[in-house]
Amino acid sequence: MTQQAADITIAQAQASVDDWIRNIGVRYFSELTNLAQLTEEVGELARIMSRTYGEQSFKASDVQGSISDELADILFVVICIANQTGVDLTEAMKQNLDKKTRRDKDRHKSNPKLNQTPNHQPNQ
Ligand SMILES: [Mg+2]
Repeated sequence: MTQQAADITIAQAQASVDDWIRNIGVRYFSELTNLAQLTEEVGELARIMSRTYGEQSFKASDVQGSISDELADILFVVICIANQTGVDLTEAMKQNLDKKTRRDKDRHKSNPKLNQTPNHQPNQ
């Protein structure tokens, strides 16, 4: 991750997307349209992941997308949905991580499957 990207807080990202929507996008798509958009963007990421890490191959006619760009597309739509439904993603993430920590404090450490060598290591 670049230092510049690390400097953007979640709150700043929510404000930047809101500003972009109001000045460039005219208005938010409806919540249900954005849900469909989110599904579409996840599908675009899935296509790249399937062909990069899975058994599928790229077609000669495939336009090469990038995982980073598709993840950013997904994040953009998630932020749109948060903004238009009044969700503070900073607070939501804090509460979600607290919930996961309480719920899974020992669960993953005691999962023998996680002590095996994984087939795929994420890029560092
Ligand atoms: Mg996309």
